[in-house]
Amino acid sequence: MAANQEQVTIFDGHNDVLLRLRKQDGSFFERAEDAQLDFPRAREGGFGGGFFAVFIPGTSEEAPPASTAAQGAADASLSAYGDTKIMPPTPDLPTAQAKALGMTADLFRLEDQSGGRVKVVRTADELAECLANGILAAILHFEGAEAIDEDLEALDVFYRAGLRSIGPVWSRPNRFAEGVPFAFPSSPDTGPGLTEAGKALIRACNRLGVMIDLSHLNEKGFWEVQKLSTAPLVATHSNAHAICGASRNLTDRQLEAIRASDGMVGVNFHVGFLRPDGKNDRETPLTVVANHVDYLVERLGIDRVGFGSDFDGATMPRELTDAAGLPRLVETLRQRGYGEADLRKIGHENWVRVLRATWH
Ligand code: ZN
Repeated sequence: MAANQEQVTIFDGHNDVLLRLRKQDGSFFERAEDAQLDFPRAREGGFGGGFFAVFIPGTSEEAPPASTAAQGAADASLSAYGDTKIMPPTPDLPTAQAKALGMTADLFRLEDQSGGRVKVVRTADELAECLANGILAAILHFEGAEAIDEDLEALDVFYRAGLRSIGPVWSRPNRFAEGVPFAFPSSPDTGPGLTEAGKALIRACNRLGVMIDLSHLNEKGFWEVQKLSTAPLVATHSNAHAICGASRNLTDRQLEAIRASDGMVGVNFHVGFLRPDGKNDRETPLTVVANHVDYLVERLGIDRVGFGSDFDGATMPRELTDAAGLPRLVETLRQRGYGEADLRKIGHENWVRVLRATWH
């Protein structure tokens, strides 16, 4: 990094820290052995904040399959969750609500314990202010709306608590939609889309100003949201299907729709969603991440691409390893020819822009 280059602040589209902390019973503020994101690593890497996911694995306290436990949670491995039969089952409403309450409380307690170093943000101004002042900005996000009832009562309550982003589904069916299972190679067109309740959820999110995350929707659901929603289309943690043909990635047609809506895509660092061979192999150079950034910038424009790491929920390239490695990714992009203004857009400004257009 040359003398005139400041560390680029990264605002990030997705992490599973809350789930990791539940499993490890740890503190966010201490450096944890197997963590990809904690406060010390965030500070080292210029991680200025992100979407903190409330993800409810299954119907009970059971751990995910052993092969993924060490890596974390949600997107942990294509090989583990490629088969829907071994996916953790969709939790029922009482189970999901109890867990979502617990994990939401975890985020507020983390904010309380931070001594002003972490803030749960509810407006774009709050987000921009945190990023400018070195306060870690956290967005309360639901990855899968299992904790929300069909009458959307819980949505009103969680919104008032601070919920500002919802992925209607994780990669399994629920009362709102059918998620896209993890498959490679596979089209994202894997089944039916939104239910009637799902359509009502989209309208309610538009009305409240809650961001709708398309990352785990299948293609039918994606197009239904595209038709219904009045907000920019956003996939918080997905990649280019043209480079890596995983079902979780976005086709050129989907990218075209995201561009037309002035939305954005957060590039996911999970190696299985990056690599052209779809393998869960940590020996994946950061140039492969840069290839996705290049491709998405070409399709979407420089104002519509950011990061969506999936820290603490996926297998990271060894060169990156964790949030402390973010400056190495920024440097890889710099070497590709991205200027400082471009890097700030990709780093955080694009997220602020999209959230300003979505929240109200
Ligand atoms: Zn995910």
